[in-house]
Amino acid sequence: MADAKLIDGRAFAVGLRHRVAKGVAELVATGGPKPGLATILVGADPASQVYVRSKGKLAAELGMASFDYRLAAETTEAELLALIAKLNGDPAINGILVQLPLPKHIDTSHVLLAVDPAKDVDGFHPINVGRLGSIVSGAPLDFPVPCTPLGVSMLLQDALGSLSGRHAVVIGRSNLVGRPVAQLLLRADCTVTITHSRTRDLPGLCRQADIVVVAIGKREFVRGDWIKPGAAVIDVGINRIVAAAGRTRLVGDAAFAEILPVAGYLTPVPGGVGPMTVACLMFNTLQAARRAAGLKVV
Ligand code: NAP
Repeated sequence: MADAKLIDGRAFAVGLRHRVAKGVAELVATGGPKPGLATILVGADPASQVYVRSKGKLAAELGMASFDYRLAAETTEAELLALIAKLNGDPAINGILVQLPLPKHIDTSHVLLAVDPAKDVDGFHPINVGRLGSIVSGAPLDFPVPCTPLGVSMLLQDALGSLSGRHAVVIGRSNLVGRPVAQLLLRADCTVTITHSRTRDLPGLCRQADIVVVAIGKREFVRGDWIKPGAAVIDVGINRIVAAAGRTRLVGDAAFAEILPVAGYLTPVPGGVGPMTVACLMFNTLQAARRAAGLKVV
């Protein structure tokens, strides 16, 4: 059997970014608002600084307005909530992204609840979580959906076409990845099995799957002999390991070299799901701006 076809998330994300840039230009050319994304970072965590900077930079590259709020680590919850209330009321801002994790003295659930659900481009507000949890087959996604899961569903639909009737095993049940992935696959008419750390016979369940999505944060956990020949394997995991000469490199939650000769489709790490997350954030911001202008989503 031939090796799995690699799903090139980097190339797909470039295409999605072009679509978003085109959508922004069309919206502005027809008198619509310039989509605005506000990013809020509390504290000076170096990794978070890099993420926030890259999001703001990409928003500007795609023709959006980018508003960067850097707050001191000692910022109180009340001060952060006051800023969010101000941004909620600002018509120039369509998306509000609060970079997580927040310092320990701030209750993340209060903050996520404070963001206007229409501007919640991360899809974390309980109202949007509930909308996704109750979505029916094929219904339009006319509310923000978490970015990484949205990217996973886009890659799968692009690679496989219709997902209807396929058996998907989702490994991991986090609110960030596993659960929303499962909801999106249900909407696409997959038969979905959600698994987690207490699941019995995970290898046996995976062997029945047409699609395996793994998001657990354990390097090379899913093995080649767990995979049904021809199945699609989407590896969301990001694990940093020390390689030769003290250098670090990224590996996924799936044993890439073992799965490659068995699967039909496989996402590499890096270059698979990773680049989709920020591209989907831009997509969500454009959609939020269209909705704010009373236009249909694209
Ligand atoms: P998380 O919140 O730590 O959740 C991990 C999930 O994995 C939990 O549901 C846990 O089960 C399950 N799990 C742990 N060990 C397991 C095992 N032995 N068998 C089966 N399930 C097991 O992690 P997350 O935020 O979802 O992230 C998961 C991975 O995706 C991480 O590597 C993260 O870096 C990566 N990630 C990548 C992107 C991207 O852009 N590509 C975005 C987000 C996350 P329990 O619920 O039973 O504890």
